[in-house]
Amino acid sequence: MDIRSLSIGQVRDGLLARRFSAVELAQEALRFAEAQNPSTGAYLRFSPDRGLSAAARVDQKIARGDDPGPLAGVPVAVKDVILTKGLRTTCGSKLLAEYVPPYDATAIIRLEEAGGVILGKTNCDEFAMGSSNENSAFGPVRNPLAPDRVPGGSSGGSAAAVAQGTAAVALGSDTGGSIRQPASFCGVVGVTPTYGRVSRYGLAAFASSLDHIGPLARTVRDAAVLLQAIAGRDPMDATSAEAPVPDYTQSMDGNVKGLKLGLPREYLKELTSETGDLIAAGVATLGKLGCEVREISLPATDYAIGCYYIIATAEASSNLARYDGVRYTSRSEASATLSDMYRNTRGEGFGAECKRRIMLGTYVLSAGYYDAYYLKAQKVRALIARDFARAFSEVDAIVAPVSPFPAFKLGEKIDDPLAMYLSDIYTITGSLAGIPCMSVPCGKTAEGLPVGMQILAKHFDEPTMFRLADAFERARAN
Ligand code: GLN
Repeated sequence: MDIRSLSIGQVRDGLLARRFSAVELAQEALRFAEAQNPSTGAYLRFSPDRGLSAAARVDQKIARGDDPGPLAGVPVAVKDVILTKGLRTTCGSKLLAEYVPPYDATAIIRLEEAGGVILGKTNCDEFAMGSSNENSAFGPVRNPLAPDRVPGGSSGGSAAAVAQGTAAVALGSDTGGSIRQPASFCGVVGVTPTYGRVSRYGLAAFASSLDHIGPLARTVRDAAVLLQAIAGRDPMDATSAEAPVPDYTQSMDGNVKGLKLGLPREYLKELTSETGDLIAAGVATLGKLGCEVREISLPATDYAIGCYYIIATAEASSNLARYDGVRYTSRSEASATLSDMYRNTRGEGFGAECKRRIMLGTYVLSAGYYDAYYLKAQKVRALIARDFARAFSEVDAIVAPVSPFPAFKLGEKIDDPLAMYLSDIYTITGSLAGIPCMSVPCGKTAEGLPVGMQILAKHFDEPTMFRLADAFERARAN
């Protein structure tokens, strides 16, 4: 058994055949992850007590002859914006450096009920704001495939852990691309489910109308199994959907013949030539599998970045108001008055990107500017959603690039926020529309940098998205 390439199915087979116990596997996985971590910095901290007791519960169930659950014994890494009771959760921020949540996120409860074993919490951009993981207060993460390059962001630690083999699967969060883009940069599978498919309860809020929790994995099947375990209605999140959760793996039969796919004209403009060639080759592979590929148009795409950075910052400015030195946070000591205390706590605690977004978001929501910016952005958001609705009346799924370029060098874009924001050009449209989208590995550049292909589907049509991604993955393996 090679711990670096372990799949959910292999863990299950090994446990049920009694080749190893869940506790033995957890011990080995923790040992390996701790030894490898210095090369990437993917994990901020490990959780051996929690992981080993979860593994012991799995072993007890197996000994009793009970079903140990679909994630039994599977080593999981969790992005540090998802709350874990009793286990420090920092959101990559100095403000929350010592914060220990009093409750678990719903996704965490479900993951552990399904038998998952949490190894630790992964590094990320502060409050999930960023595309390179360089906005973390606790240092950057290195891409395991190219140590001088970023892993992408904001779920950079989760993507790096899965790529490096220090977790079998991971949870990330995506607001405008933070699962798909790092998955693409690290050569793993990353899924942003339909908005409302997974409860946001216990996910530290960045932009509530855009935030999603979703899986990162080495295979489409593993991503589907993890999503299945955490999806579904949760009374603790009013925006979580009632829609029943289908069996995702059942749709993955390798047959995609006759599936109609749209290739958005507007998405092929800014690509570097190598990325463009790899996406074209990926589309050709889907054509050989019997899919009918046609060009489609999503005309509002040009306005997507502006629209996203107004809505996301507006919501962020409101959500981050809670970090005031009274609740959650460490407090600045040197203040004489209450307003000084707020100002100093926030001034010392937030990093530059959070401050930039709080200022921008406060500005677009202020009296006199609300109509010109925020309301306008909401209208553009409706146009983007309408583009997708129109496209899906003609096609079953959309294929697109994830990012205009592969993983860039550490430090390359950090002083140019606008260049950084452009990394999200192909991912934020799906987020604004609330549709399911994912990144599936599509090949590597001459330098060996992974490139992901994006698959987008109708609301709650994860089954078609997974079917296509799985067939593509199989075709590439052959
Ligand atoms: N990179 C985008 C941003 O900085 C998306 C982040 C995310 O999806 N959390 O906002």
